[in-house]
Amino acid sequence: MGIVIALANQKGGVGKTTTSVNLGACLADLGKKVLLIDSDAQGNATSGVGVRKSEIEKDIYDVLVNEYPIADTIIATSHEGLEIVPATIQLSGAEIELTSQMARESRLLDAIKQIRNDYDYILIDCPPSLGLLTINAFSASDSILIPVQSEYYALEGLSQLINTVKLVQKHFNPQLAIEGVLMTMLDARTNLGSQVVEEVQKFFKDKVYQTVIPRNVRLSEAPSHGLAIVDYDPASRGAKEYMALAKEVLANHGE
Ligand code: ADP
Ligand code: MG
Repeated sequence: MGIVIALANQKGGVGKTTTSVNLGACLADLGKKVLLIDSDAQGNATSGVGVRKSEIEKDIYDVLVNEYPIADTIIATSHEGLEIVPATIQLSGAEIELTSQMARESRLLDAIKQIRNDYDYILIDCPPSLGLLTINAFSASDSILIPVQSEYYALEGLSQLINTVKLVQKHFNPQLAIEGVLMTMLDARTNLGSQVVEEVQKFFKDKVYQTVIPRNVRLSEAPSHGLAIVDYDPASRGAKEYMALAKEVLANHGE
């Protein structure tokens, strides 16, 4: 049965989507069958793996709001072994539309149950909020992976995130665990970054990954080509560190 991991942090621009796409591609390169679920109306994970809007017939909105079969929304990406449930801008209406519906917090859980056996890892790219889409992701997941940008105020907002995890544990998903905390966009030229890493380690202890993702311009260029970093520039530091992260994730699961 596939391991379901939500990539979440209600702050925008911390590397959730970059990590979803590149961890997904690296896990696929390590022989895993991976499904990426784009749960952000921006659709950055969708375009980041080379899916064009014209290719999308049904998306995560139809799954969540209309209970459309998730299997029929899955499409191939530019990376072999990595598939995706795409998102489009229509997802931006989902939170309001779900509010009045039954079992609104468990729509994604119910959908993932249908396909869980088909994958080794299912990664959910969450939106930058703690609203109903993120609650759905947390209810459906075994664990959450929290990307944290290596800058001042890195810890700001994380207690709110942890409170949301506790609420979901209490009401919907007692098994929900913290998969790990990933430091992203570390600028090696400043001392600030390593100070921030230490701060975050004080707070999250051994949950912080050994792997730290550096600030790497190739990582920011790859999405506009619709490619994972391992396809866009396999020799880049970004590619090497995301591969190291994938190995660390597998090791944490005894693989
Ligand atoms: P989020 O999904 O949390 O909003 P993104 O993954 O979209 O964050 O990252 C925000 C921006 O920063 C994007 O333009 C992305 O390409 C860029 N970016 C992400 N990680 C890195 C990195 N390690 N080095 C350089 N740019 C990065
Ligand atoms: Mg994003």
